[in-house]
Amino acid sequence: MPICLLLSGALFLSSCKKEDKIPESCDGIHWEYTGEDGPTHWGELCVGYAECDGSTQSPVDIKGAVADGTLSAIAKAYATSKTNILNNGHTIQFNYDAGSSITVNGLQYDLLQFHFHTHSEHLVNGVSHPMEVHLVHKNAATGNLAVIGVFFEEGAENPLLAHYIDHLPVNHDETFTSDETYTAADLLPAGTGYYTYSGSLTTPPCSEIVTWIVMKDHITASTAQIHDIETLEHENFRPVQPLEGRTIKVFN
Ligand SMILES: [Zn+2]
Repeated sequence: MPICLLLSGALFLSSCKKEDKIPESCDGIHWEYTGEDGPTHWGELCVGYAECDGSTQSPVDIKGAVADGTLSAIAKAYATSKTNILNNGHTIQFNYDAGSSITVNGLQYDLLQFHFHTHSEHLVNGVSHPMEVHLVHKNAATGNLAVIGVFFEEGAENPLLAHYIDHLPVNHDETFTSDETYTAADLLPAGTGYYTYSGSLTTPPCSEIVTWIVMKDHITASTAQIHDIETLEHENFRPVQPLEGRTIKVFN
C-alpha cells in the first residue's frame, strides 16, 4: 500500500497522487527478484513494464498438455560460436555468434544468446528443477521470439559448463571473451519431445512475443556446477503466472 494512503487528511492527497504516478520511461529503472522491486511489482515500476501484468505471461506450471499431431521436432541448424559470456546482473548470458537458427511453424528464428535461471522458472505438474537454460531465438522480420527451455537435474557434470565454469564473470556488466568455439547444441537433450505455448519474456518488460518450447527430456549438471551458477546469479526465477485459458501443447 502506498504510504500516503496511510496518512489521514485530504491535505496530502494531491502530493500523494503525484508520487504514485508510474514513470513513463523505464530508463534506469531497477528491478529485482525479491522485495519492493520484485516480480509482483514489475508492472508498476514504469509504463514500459505494464505488460508484466498482462494475461499471457511466463513462466507457467506445465500441466494438462494436449498432444497435437500437427507438431513436429524442432529443426535446428546450430553452428559453433566464439565465446562471449556476460554477467548482466540478473543472469549469466552466453551471447552467440550470428549464423545459427531453428525453424518453428515454417519461420526461421536466429539464436541470439542463452542464459540460466536457478532454480527453474517453468514447473511441470508443480515440480521445479534446480536449473533451467533459455536459448533465445528471434525472427528477423517480426521481432518475435522462440525460446527453448531445458531443465537441468543434478547428476553428471555438464561438459560445456565444466569448460567455462572458472571463467564465468563474477561482477555485474563483466564479460569473458575468447576465440575458442563451442556449440549450443551441447545443451539440448537427446529426446525431441517438447511442450509449447504462447507466453512472454520472464523478465521486464515481459513482452508477450514468445513461442515457448520447453523440452521434455532433461540434461544434467553436477551439484557443484549448479551451486557455482546460483552463487553468481542468486535466485533468479520469476514465479509461475496464471495460464488464463491458454492451451499447452505437447509433441512426444
Ligand atoms: Zn530466461
